[in-house]
Amino acid sequence: MPGSWLYEMSWSEVEEYLKRDDRIILPIGSTEQHGKFAPLGTDTLAAIALAEDASAQTGVLIAPPLWFGWSPHHLVRPGTITIRAEVLIEVLYDIIRSLAKHGFKKFVVINGHRIVNISWMQIAAERAQRELKVKVVIFDPAYMSKGICDKLGFGPVGHAEEIEISHMVYKYPNLVKLEKARDYAPEEKSLYHVDPRDPRDTLCYVPSTEDDMKALIEASGDSITGRPTLSSAEKGKKYHEHLVSRLIEVLEMLKG
Ligand SMILES: [Zn+2]
Repeated sequence: MPGSWLYEMSWSEVEEYLKRDDRIILPIGSTEQHGKFAPLGTDTLAAIALAEDASAQTGVLIAPPLWFGWSPHHLVRPGTITIRAEVLIEVLYDIIRSLAKHGFKKFVVINGHRIVNISWMQIAAERAQRELKVKVVIFDPAYMSKGICDKLGFGPVGHAEEIEISHMVYKYPNLVKLEKARDYAPEEKSLYHVDPRDPRDTLCYVPSTEDDMKALIEASGDSITGRPTLSSAEKGKKYHEHLVSRLIEVLEMLKG
């Protein structure tokens, strides 16, 4: 059973919902290249899949997904659409402001685009909490899966690596062409890392530049990092179910 989507309801149904609940899920991702083998919508689809399954079990409404994130470095490949960081902040704030006007008070923002969207989401969330007197929680799969990724034998977070691609293979198998995937392990940096499981600094990690991405293309032949060829639907299912249960915990925490 799919979750409850706001865009499928009439205004009067939303009004009824607000009499019994003030929570809403906002799935946000990106439209960004994920190698030759995975869809541009990977990050948004991941956020949608988590939102739908948590909504189906809790009845919490889902706002329309935001298909765009901050991805300027991925413009090196066709199809990527980026919005500027300041636009992401304003769009997210305006979505929350609109919904808050109707009576929604608790917002769970699912970030399908990992560390690169988080800073801007935090700025919008802090401003919304201060100015609109609402509660905003950011649910980031990379952070919320720290407890299970090692157990599943996943390597480090990269880009289109086996973690997010296992998730895609499980939830959207028709959109992944694994036979076209090639692994690529970039040279390790001694001080910084993108993976929240890594003891090196992750919060101070700064996303790649377009020049970095051009160098990656030169070195790897594609534009990804990690080991997508190790992706499996079975691991993707466990990863997904773990994240859905964490998301339900967050929604329960906000109940009432
Ligand atoms: Zn991704």
